[in-house]
Parts: sequence; C-alpha cells; structure tokens
Amino acid sequence: MDTGPLSAEPPIRRLYELSLAELVAWCESHGEGGYRARQIRRWLFGKRVNSFDEMHDVPAALRQKLAEAFTLFPARVVSHQVARDRTEKLLLELSDGEWIECVLMRETSRRTVCLSTQVGCAMGCVFCASGMLGLKRNLSTGEILEQILRLDRLLTGDERLTNVVIMGIGEPMANLKNLLPALDSMSDPGGFGLGARRITVSTVGLPDQMRKLAETGKQYNLAVSLHAPNDELRDRLVKVNRNTGIPAILDAADEYFAKTGRRVTFEYVLLSGMNDSAEQALELAELLRNREAHVNLIPMNGVTELPFVEPTAPRTREFCSILEAHGIPATVRKRKGADIDAACGQLRLQRHQQVNPELVPLNATKLES
Ligand code: SAH
Repeated sequence: MDTGPLSAEPPIRRLYELSLAELVAWCESHGEGGYRARQIRRWLFGKRVNSFDEMHDVPAALRQKLAEAFTLFPARVVSHQVARDRTEKLLLELSDGEWIECVLMRETSRRTVCLSTQVGCAMGCVFCASGMLGLKRNLSTGEILEQILRLDRLLTGDERLTNVVIMGIGEPMANLKNLLPALDSMSDPGGFGLGARRITVSTVGLPDQMRKLAETGKQYNLAVSLHAPNDELRDRLVKVNRNTGIPAILDAADEYFAKTGRRVTFEYVLLSGMNDSAEQALELAELLRNREAHVNLIPMNGVTELPFVEPTAPRTREFCSILEAHGIPATVRKRKGADIDAACGQLRLQRHQQVNPELVPLNATKLES
C-alpha cells in the first residue's frame, strides 16, 4: 500500500536526533551559548515538553529559531491501546505513511518500553508477525527516539522509565548505525540517563554486528534469539540462520560477555511440537553448558495466520526445569498486554490487512522442511 510521499525522512529534522555535540555546534553557529544545548535536552528528555514554547528558560528568540529549524513529534498516532494490566501500545504513522509499533509495560518497580528499529523485518522468523510483510526500510535515529519520548509522555507525574528493550519490529543489528546514537541518548546523563545496564538489545544473531555493539564499550544487555538447539531446526525456524549458523553466533556471544562482563540472555520461543521436547531441552542445556548464559523462554504468542501455538503450561515448566537441573538459569517470560495484541508486529499487520484484505503475508504458509 502506498499512503504517502516517497521520502523516508520528514523534510525537517527532529530536534532530539542531534547528539549533544551536534546541538552545541548548532547553538554556537546560531550565535547562542553552547550551554543552551544541555538546557534544551533537559526539556526534551527530562521534562516531557510537547512544544518549543514550554522550554521556559530558553530565550524566546532561540525558541523561535529552533521551531523554524526542527520538529518535535511529527509521527501521527494511528492507535493508542491500553490493556487491563496498564500496558500501553502506540501504532505510529511515519512521514512516508509507514506504520511502526512501540509498547510501554508497567510492573510494580519497573516501567519498560519496547521499541522498533525497522519498518518490517528481513530475518525470516517463521513464527513472527513483524516479518510477514518483508522489510520496508530502516528507522532513522529520530524515529527510534520519538517512540521512547512519546511513551515517556504517557507516564504520570512521578512515574519514571526504568528499562528499555529493543524488541519491537525489526532487527536492531541490521540498523546499528541509526540505533547506536539513539541508545546514547537513552543511556547518557544528558539524555534519559538510564544507564546502559538498563537497556537490552535483542538480536536474531548477526555475529559481526554483535561485535560492533561490544566495541561501543557500553554495558548494554544483549539478548540472542536462539529458538532451536541445533542448526538443522534453526535453519527452518529462523531463515537467516542459513547464512550464519549457531557456532558463529555463540562465539560472538562469548566475546560479548568477555568484553562487557554482561551475561548474555538466550531467548527461546516455545512452539508446541516443534522445539519444546525434553530431548531438545537437554540438547539446549548441552549447547550452553559452561557459558555465562541465561535462557528466557517465551511462550508463542498466537498469530492468526500462523500454524504455531504455545505448549501447555506443564510442558513449559518441564522444559524450564530440565535447563535448570543442568545448571542453566532459565525463566519463562510473563505475558504483558495480552488483551491488546501487544506482541510487536501484530497490530501493524492487522491494520495492513484491514486496509488491504487481499494481502498475503510472506510466511503465512506451512513450515518448509
Ligand atoms: N529481531 C530481534 C527482535 C525481535 S522481537 C530478534 O530476533 O531478537 C523480540 C523477541 O520476540 C524475539 O526473540 C522474537 O523471536 C520473539 N518473537 C517474535 N514473534 C513472536 C511470537 N509470535 N511469539 C513469541 N515471541 C515472538
């Protein structure tokens, strides 16, 4: 579907797309003190302003110049859903008419946001709604940051964001160039100041890019979506595995731990009758033996077009217990926002289908062998 102009980027940049250094330079080149940059960023990241006029300690003339040169929140909110557990999900329309999703999850002591990095995805995980329409394009740094800034503005007065997970639509490692500056603004004190340890980047497992993330020298958490204990099965579940293979991914994960000191999480979507047997749990335990690893089991979130379902609760518990009995720490992910299809990619897919009922998703077929 073609709903907008062809350019992927809005004509005017988002103000927060500039790094602190870039904003200092901009202020100086416009005859203003560089210290104004920190002031402006405090309004954006700390004080939840929605307009230039709310930046009270910034002189009116500078606010005027900023408003002429930059934009703040150009995306349109197509839908805003609130689940019974107070999980909130935004479907945003970008300047070229593309849609992305982002989610705010609340727990007693945590407020976590889940962000997208691409429009669609090219990795080809057969159980995932995000990849069903293929990859359209990467998100810009500003488009990634607009998601977290908007979700932060859904919080009430003294509520603060505590964690970020890059687990929305897209493969973060395929868009590291635009993601890394966004992560800087999330972790740095002059931005959200969350600290790298509160940020988790989830990847299908692209070894070279995993190394690049380690080279930033920041302690981001890395989650690797494994989903199978051997290449034969992983090749079928995660198409891109045919180009990488599990050993190269584990090598890169080991290096990540060695460089950052952060224990790597391995995500494993449990698909009934596919990758959830006791033998497969044992095989997974063997694969991860002697590694500083943690396994996060994710019961399959149903997608209407797909033939996969989550295992029964006893089978899920058994899989988890086998891992633990073999010395691999494992947890089962709690489901948040179940009543609003909060699993990323689902809402976007549904909307596309409403607009174009003829649409046939790429992987809405039986699993190839
Ligand atoms: N491209 C990244 C981020 C994807 S989303 C990655 O592959 O890690 C985060 C996690 O949700 C991934 O582990 C992904 O495989 C998983 N996931 C995708 N579709 C799912 C579904 N229908 N049910 C449960 N988990 C799913």
